[in-house]
Amino acid sequence: ADAFDEECDYLFKAVLIGDTGVGKSNLLSRFAKDEFRLDSKPTIGVEFAYRNIKVGDKLIKAQIWDTAGQERFRAITSSYYRGALGALLVYDITRRSSYENVSKWLVELREFGGEDMVVILVGNKCDLSESREVEKEEGKGFAETEGLCFMETSALRNLNVEEVFLQMITKIYDMTS
Ligand code: GDP
Ligand code: MG
Repeated sequence: ADAFDEECDYLFKAVLIGDTGVGKSNLLSRFAKDEFRLDSKPTIGVEFAYRNIKVGDKLIKAQIWDTAGQERFRAITSSYYRGALGALLVYDITRRSSYENVSKWLVELREFGGEDMVVILVGNKCDLSESREVEKEEGKGFAETEGLCFMETSALRNLNVEEVFLQMITKIYDMTS
């Protein structure tokens, strides 16, 4: 049987949010398929990807939802968040406005998401250090204030991508078991 059909012990839903262009879809394709796209793919409808992960002796099926560009119009509906146990809230370290909008995304997350949702603040595109507009310490400090985990990633260079998803999934597992 292929991995998709394997018996799993848990099914976790998690969502990706953040401004358009920050790299959400590329983070997901890296994690799910180890692929990166230079062009931003035009998206239609909500998309999600699965990956099976072993935590201890348990098999977890992680279902990660990606927006289909609705974030551009701030038109993500509550059904996107429904049942989600985790979220990666992504900004682009080279675009300050995407970082400033994080607090707006948090308001939405706290309105539609569950109370115990595991949220990780992700500063993506850390490969572009020469055009950095948000210092790592700043993102980290904000995350601490808000009680979130924090990591910088590069979907392009495949830095910390696996780690950030695994951290989220492990924390969800710890919370639910
Ligand atoms: P989304 O709108 O948040 O889903 O963002 P996309 O995944 O579509 O990425 C937007 C653009 O940023 C694309 O041109 C990607 O190639 C680029 N991109 C995404 N992640 C990275 C990264 O880690 N480093 C760099 N340099 N570019 C990235
Ligand atoms: Mg996208």
